[in-house]
Amino acid sequence: MSTVGLGMPSVAKGLRTQAGPAVSETAPAAPTSGPLVDTYGRVARDLRVSLTDRCNLRCTYCMPAEGLDWMPSSAVLTTSELQRLIRIAVTLLGVREIRFTGGEPLLYARITELVAATAALEPRPEISLTTNALGLQRKAAALKAAGLDRVNVSLDTVNARNFHTLTRRDRLADVLQGLAAASEAGLTPVKVNAVLQPGINDLDAPELLQFCLDHGYELRFIEQMPLDAEHGWRRDRFVTAEQILASLARKFTLTPHSEHRGSAPAERFWVDGGPATVGIIASVTRPFCGDCDRTRLTADGQIRSCLFSHGETDLRALLRGDSCDQVADGAEGDAVLAQAWRAAMWRKLPGHGINDPGFLQPHRSMSAIGG
Ligand code: SAM
Ligand code: SF4
Repeated sequence: MSTVGLGMPSVAKGLRTQAGPAVSETAPAAPTSGPLVDTYGRVARDLRVSLTDRCNLRCTYCMPAEGLDWMPSSAVLTTSELQRLIRIAVTLLGVREIRFTGGEPLLYARITELVAATAALEPRPEISLTTNALGLQRKAAALKAAGLDRVNVSLDTVNARNFHTLTRRDRLADVLQGLAAASEAGLTPVKVNAVLQPGINDLDAPELLQFCLDHGYELRFIEQMPLDAEHGWRRDRFVTAEQILASLARKFTLTPHSEHRGSAPAERFWVDGGPATVGIIASVTRPFCGDCDRTRLTADGQIRSCLFSHGETDLRALLRGDSCDQVADGAEGDAVLAQAWRAAMWRKLPGHGINDPGFLQPHRSMSAIGG
């Protein structure tokens, strides 16, 4: 059995990160047309839309057992507000991929309608969903028919007892049924995202990979990031990419995939010579911020240029005229919203700063941002 190390990080060293000043006073202003570019030359083509901060699981690395103070429904964007912002992103700002997330996006009652409206846009974006798969068994076929292209299902272990410890719910069977339904509906490639927690499921990685190989799911491990609501992340207590690879190497032979990774966060490895692969998303130990092409819209209408941003741009205020002028309906208002979005992304910092001495975890946790 063998394994290999990960490639070099692409983010430039010594540049300002999230812990640094928000924007230089001498920085030029954002462009007034075209896509979402930033001062480091990155272009955001991939929009993560959070539909809700609520969830029906309580993963220990994400949420406390008692849940969180959910956003009041009046704060959450309406379906028509969401549709307007997604349309602006696609038709005015060059966004090419829409991923619905949360919280748990399948709790959003009008998700099928939203997917259909997104699929009707020109140019039609790629549409995907990140979900814990509870309820996917019932919804997969309708989502596919509405235009959903693929799903990423979060599943950290196939050991029922460890699943319960990790998610604080006894729902492994529902997740497995959801996964099977996604595959059957053609929401492929079905990807599985796994986070390992020391002392809970860190020994389950080879078994999870074997399960994914057996079912034709593409597994990717994500290093745990400091985004949990309880601020419990510790630099010396998360499972690193190197440790994940070493654990998998006890059962499988992994060889690096030669593809150019581009903006894809996962570094891929052939498993036992292929054709199956496994991915590692080493957000902490091998950051890939230099190639990031993401922009994020929270369920309450805030644009975030990064998971780790300390600032947000309030598009909901512009949509509704809360403490500012409300934008008009139609093309003129769309242009104002698009420009606010461009300005938000223009200020994107070069890196997340997790490894900087002054790193501060953002106020919002993962489920309230949209992972
Ligand atoms: N509820 C859905 C789910 O779990 O797939 C969508 C939202 S969840 C916040 C999106 C992704 O973020 C999941 O794959 C989850 O494992 C990941 N995630 C949550 N907290 C994380 C953390 N602290 N570090 C790394 N990934 C995390
Ligand atoms: Fe819910 Fe997803 Fe967070 Fe787990 S990771 S608690 S499923 S939002």
